[in-house]
Amino acid sequence: LVVISDVDKHYGDLHVLKKINAVVNRGEVVVVIGPSGSGKSTLCRAINRLETIDAGVITIDGVKLPAEGKALAKLRADVGMVFQAFNLFAHKTVLENVTLGPIKVRGLSKAEAEKKAMVLLERVGVANQAKKMPAQLSGGQQQRVAIARALAMDPKVILLDEPTSALDPEMINEVLEVMINLANDGMTMIVVTHEMGFARRAADRVIFMAEGEIVEETTPEQFFTNPQSSRAKDFLSKIL
Ligand code: ATP
Ligand code: MG
Repeated sequence: LVVISDVDKHYGDLHVLKKINAVVNRGEVVVVIGPSGSGKSTLCRAINRLETIDAGVITIDGVKLPAEGKALAKLRADVGMVFQAFNLFAHKTVLENVTLGPIKVRGLSKAEAEKKAMVLLERVGVANQAKKMPAQLSGGQQQRVAIARALAMDPKVILLDEPTSALDPEMINEVLEVMINLANDGMTMIVVTHEMGFARRAADRVIFMAEGEIVEETTPEQFFTNPQSSRAKDFLSKIL
C-alpha cells in the first residue's frame, strides 16, 4: 500500500534520509523506532508530502508522490496523520474538529459528517465530550479526538508520530488501547513510538532507524529480545 523507494533527503548539509526503502502492506502495522534525530518524523512527513524529498519515489496505493493541487489534497486525505502535540483546531469544538475534513474534502453533508463523527468519537471513548472545546479535555482525550479526526477521512493508512510521548503517564494507556483496537480492526498503520508494549502487542514489523538509515527491519519479538546491530543494542539498552 505504501512503497518507499530510494528516498533521500537533506536539510542543507545534513543528510536526514539515506536511500530509504520500505514497504507497508495493507492491514499491516509497522512501528518505526530509533534515536532522536534519526529521521523518523521526516520520513512520516515525507509520506504525507508535508516534506519534499530530494530523490526517490513514494507511492500510496499505486499513486506516486509528489502530486500537486487537487491530487495532493486527495492523497493527503488518504493518509491520516496524528502528531505528538495534539494539534486540534483550538477554536472549534471536538465535534467540529472531526467533521471539518469530511465536509470540506470528502463532500459529506453536515448531518452525515456529524453522524459519522459521533460513531468515531464513541469508538475512541470521548463521545460525551463532543460539544466541548479541545482545551477543556485532558491530553489523552485530545489525542483520542485527533485519532477520530484522522479516521473520519476514511484514510487508507494512518501515520502516528509519537502519539503518546507528550502525555502524562496515566493517559498513555488509554491512547495505546485505542491504537491497539485500530490495529486489530485491520487498519494499516505506521507508528513512530518507543512504547514497547504497543509494538509487542500490535506491530507486525519493527523498523529501526539510525542516522537517516534503516538499520534493522524485523519482528517486534526479534527486535526487542535479539537485536542484531550494535546501534540497536545500544539504543535498546538506553530505553529499556
Ligand atoms: P525525534 O525522536 O527527536 O523526534 P526524529 O527521528 O523524528 O527525532 P527528525 O525530526 O526526522 O528526527 O529529524 C532528523 C534530523 O533532521 C534532525 O537532526 C533534525 O534536527 C533535522 N531537522 C528536522 N527538521 C528540520 C528542518 N525543518 N530544518 C533543518 N533540519 C531539520
Ligand atoms: Mg520525531
